[in-house]
Amino acid sequence: MLQGKLGVVFGVANRRSIAWGIAQALSGAGARLALTYQERVGDTVNELAATLPGSMTMPCDVTRDEDIEGTFARLDEAFGGLDILVHSLAFAPHEALAGTFVDTTREAFRIALDVSAYSLVALARAARPLMERRGGGSIITMTYLGSDRVFPRYNVMGVAKAALESSVRYLASELGPPSIRVNAISAGPIRTLAARSIPGFPRMEEHVRQAAPLRRNTEAAEVGDVALFLASDLSRGVTGEVIFCDSGYHVMGTSMPLG
Ligand code: NAD
Repeated sequence: MLQGKLGVVFGVANRRSIAWGIAQALSGAGARLALTYQERVGDTVNELAATLPGSMTMPCDVTRDEDIEGTFARLDEAFGGLDILVHSLAFAPHEALAGTFVDTTREAFRIALDVSAYSLVALARAARPLMERRGGGSIITMTYLGSDRVFPRYNVMGVAKAALESSVRYLASELGPPSIRVNAISAGPIRTLAARSIPGFPRMEEHVRQAAPLRRNTEAAEVGDVALFLASDLSRGVTGEVIFCDSGYHVMGTSMPLG
C-alpha cells in the first residue's frame, strides 16, 4: 500500500511506543522511514530502526527550532521529499498530572502546550515544502478523549489535546489546497512510557476492559493499522478528522446496566 512512499515518524521511545506500532505498520506496507528520537532514547531507537529495511534515524527535540530545521534539512537531503509525517509525542511536567487541574502553573501549562500541540504546527510547516514536491502528503497525530471529556488527573494534557485537535482542523484547512491531509487518531489507553506517568492509569485500563463495546483495551498495532489507512490513498478523501481507535469506548454514555 505504501510502496515508494517516504515517511518520518516522531515519537518512538521504545518498543511499547505507539509510534513504534505505527512505524512497523508503515514499513511493513513498503514505506521508507526516518525515525526521530530524543537523545536519551537514541540507542533503543537505533536498535529498533535497524529492523526496518532502508530506515534512518536522527535526534530531534521538538521544543528546539534549530533541531526541527536540521531534521528537515537532513530529510530533504536523504529523501528529496516527504509523503507521510507521524507526530506521536506529548509531554507535561509530572506535578501537573499528579495534582489538581486548578493548580496548574503557568510554566507547566506552557510546556505541555508547547511540546504536545505547538510542535504539530511547527512540524507541519517544515514538512510542507517537502510534501508539495511530492504532490501532497499525509500528516497524522495522536490524541485522546481527554480533550473533550474530563478524566481526573489527565488535567493539562486534556487541554493540550484539545489544542492539538483544533490545530488539526486549522492545518487541514490551510494545507488542503496542496493536497496535504491532516488527521488525528484518538487511541484508548495503551500501557506505554508516557501512559505510566498518568496517575491511576491501570484503573483506567481496567475500566475500559469492562465498559468498551469490544470489552478490551487498544493495542499499538491496531493504531498502526489506522495510521496505515490514513497514510495511504485509501483515505484520500479524509482530512481534518479525529478517528477513534479505542474499542468503541467513546460512544458509551454510561457503563451502568440500565433497566
Ligand atoms: P511514549 O512515551 O512511548 O511516547 C512519547 C514520546 O514523546 C517519546 O518518544 C518521547 O521521546 C517523545 N517526546 C516527549 N517530549 C519530546 C520533545 N520535546 N521532543 C521530541 N520528542 C518528545 O508514549 P505513547 O503513549 O506512545 O505516546 C505517543 C502519543 O500517543 C502521545 O501524543 C500520547 O499523548 C498519545 N496517546 C497515548 C495514549 C496511551 O494510552 N498511551 C492514548 C491516546 C493518545
